[in-house]
Amino acid sequence: MKNKLVAKIFRDIAEILEIKGENHFRIRAYERASQNIESLPDDIEAFVKEDKLKDISGIGKDLEEKIKEIVSTGKLEYLEKLKKDIPEGLIEILNVPGIGPKTAKLLYEKLDIQDVVMLERMAHAGKIRDLEGMGEKTEENILAGIELFKKTRERLDLKIATEVAEGFVAQLEKLKDVKRINPAGSLRRMKDTVRDIDILISSNNPQKIMDAFTTLADVKDVIAKGPAKSSIRTKDNIQVDARVVGESSYGASLMYFTGSKEHNIKLRQLAIKHGLKLNEYGIFKAERRIAGKTEEEMYKALGLSYIEPELREDRGEFEASLKGALPDLVKIEDIKGDLHMHSTWSDGGNSMEEMVIKSMELGYEYIAITDHSQGLKIAGGLNTHELELKRKEIDELNKKYRDIKILFGSEVDIDSDGNLDYPDSLLRGMDIVIGAIHTGFKQPSSFITKRIIKACQNKYVNIIAHPTGRLWGSRDAYDMDFKEVFKAALDTNTAFEINSFPERLDLNDINSRMAKEAGVKIVINTDSHLAEHLNMMKFGVAVARRAWLEKNDILNTAIFSKLKLKNLG
Ligand SMILES: [Zn+2]
Ligand SMILES: [Zn+2]
Repeated sequence: MKNKLVAKIFRDIAEILEIKGENHFRIRAYERASQNIESLPDDIEAFVKEDKLKDISGIGKDLEEKIKEIVSTGKLEYLEKLKKDIPEGLIEILNVPGIGPKTAKLLYEKLDIQDVVMLERMAHAGKIRDLEGMGEKTEENILAGIELFKKTRERLDLKIATEVAEGFVAQLEKLKDVKRINPAGSLRRMKDTVRDIDILISSNNPQKIMDAFTTLADVKDVIAKGPAKSSIRTKDNIQVDARVVGESSYGASLMYFTGSKEHNIKLRQLAIKHGLKLNEYGIFKAERRIAGKTEEEMYKALGLSYIEPELREDRGEFEASLKGALPDLVKIEDIKGDLHMHSTWSDGGNSMEEMVIKSMELGYEYIAITDHSQGLKIAGGLNTHELELKRKEIDELNKKYRDIKILFGSEVDIDSDGNLDYPDSLLRGMDIVIGAIHTGFKQPSSFITKRIIKACQNKYVNIIAHPTGRLWGSRDAYDMDFKEVFKAALDTNTAFEINSFPERLDLNDINSRMAKEAGVKIVINTDSHLAEHLNMMKFGVAVARRAWLEKNDILNTAIFSKLKLKNLG
């Protein structure tokens, strides 16, 4: 799939054109093409082959030629030329949250800022505040943006990491010398962000595997190549390490390279206590290996039952394992429906019917289509009349598709005082109401806490969506008093969401576990804005598993007749 590459090249072009102050319509055309191609569910190469590029909205003759060039050569001459017109670092500056092409242009022209390092220096020196339209606050925001930018560059989100790892595993798996293969590291533990990707392989022919790994099509350069361990960088600058071990120590190595470090330290201490030695090759009694082939036998040799990778953080898993009290973690198959998604009624890209069809493919028993409320103008929120029309369309769809129950809902904005964007008279008529904060993120913790508590107290609000507002790479979670908030949730029977969007993944693992301990119900939703986003449920489930959640802790594991929502009789 070269969709991402094409989309990225077009986005870069739009940004450079804007820095250069070119025609607005040309810029917009590249932006639109980039968005459309990014959200295309099918492979762009198939469009080229079948000569169907013109069917994609926003693609004319000129862009068609450019796409063909990118697909066949992996780059675009036009972009290479454009890049020479501006300093290279300026393009990097655009990746700092809060800095768009206009600001980048201003900074370049007035202060000759050409890269992120200079930007940071100038902001620290207080030079930016004096520029027209900037001020002290903007300068502070730029510094905060730079911090986020640095963090993001060091870590990948879970979706990207998963896709890259799956791609490598799928290609290596085909080699007949590969016996077992697993991603290891924090990706196997399904942490919400991942630094680099580790792949572990068992084989009797490591050299052959290393040769294959370092010459795969996605490899840009080889950082190191050894007889049984190599590191490469992909074309997207992601580091992937592969390591080959023998079959008899595969379980020990998998355990060792899965981590976490804290978990491994405890394992080693436990081994010592039993008079054993533990390392990446196995567990040894004197010189004799007593375990190593599988993780199960490793844990067993230490007197433990198997601990799922998501729990290996030294957060009580040893104590639970010894007591036989490990949780029976929720699985993706337990999810019976998705209760938060958007359609073309607001800012979604697919019709309600398309969302329904995809949800049926996933085997769901029910879904809720929860477009935005009227206050959220940029997201095309619905007014009273539109709500009526949407309700009618949902009734029709329910008649047409008998195998799935479609709930009529709304994601209702919680304003800066904690009031909801629709009156109770409208909320009463909905099957499901989701309260969400989309503005006023910078309020003090006590305000945000009050807003959420007030929303829970509304008798029609079923769920609080993306409760901490975090957006990986652009916005940190806002502060609130979780104890107070969860108490209100419990008192009012309001569920809290784990949002499966890779940039969000909030509540996070720690907060979700707190919610469970407080007795608050969790719901895992995708917040899909396209039908294909419905596939992201697995990332929300990963957070739930890291939070020790079981099937019964999660509302949308219930079959429809048992689904407990305030508004459903
Ligand atoms: Zn939202
Ligand atoms: Zn939403």
